[in-house]
Amino acid sequence: MTLGMVILGRQGSGKGTQAVHIAERFQIVHISTGDMLRSAVQEGTELGLKAKSIMDSGGLVTDDVVNGIVAERLAKDDVQNSGFLLDGYPRTVGQATELKQLVGDSLKLAINLDVSIEEVTQRMMSRGREDDTPEAIARRLELYEAETAPLIEWFENENILCVIDGLGTEIEVHRRVIEEIQRNI
Ligand code: AMP
Repeated sequence: MTLGMVILGRQGSGKGTQAVHIAERFQIVHISTGDMLRSAVQEGTELGLKAKSIMDSGGLVTDDVVNGIVAERLAKDDVQNSGFLLDGYPRTVGQATELKQLVGDSLKLAINLDVSIEEVTQRMMSRGREDDTPEAIARRLELYEAETAPLIEWFENENILCVIDGLGTEIEVHRRVIEEIQRNI
């Protein structure tokens, strides 16, 4: 059975950066729903047109739409053969329930990269991404607490939660993450 993992963390926690390292280290496919949606926006596809204004305002694209693109991606050969690391998905309990239906026991670990609201706000203000307006940052953090934070308990109930302190340099956090994954899979 292939190795499946998800990584959770507030926007600005460094989860995208760590996800790339983890995927490389364990030779699994990195799937970022944020990247997929941003490509769709750039390409001007129907999905991109639908998602753009939601993303610009810091809102969440609907579960139906995101579940659809993830299901399609997970069905591809590279994922079937090598396993996956989902980054930015699931973001709601509805998405987590769908993921469980889709992959079942292949999902081995949910990593929560823990960084405080104060620290991520500082980091996001300085990264200068186009969708990082103060309003969008505040909206995303608010939605994270309301919609995504409940997933921490959800994954704990599934007995696959692993919480990792995300404070420190990229290398320090990377070492910590790899060690914890090895201990838990
Ligand atoms: P990210 O790069 O993960 O911060 O995602 C950028 C934006 O894409 C988010 O602010 C949401 O608008 C949208 N998005 C990404 N993943 C999801 C998801 N799983 N559910 C809903 N919206 C998402």
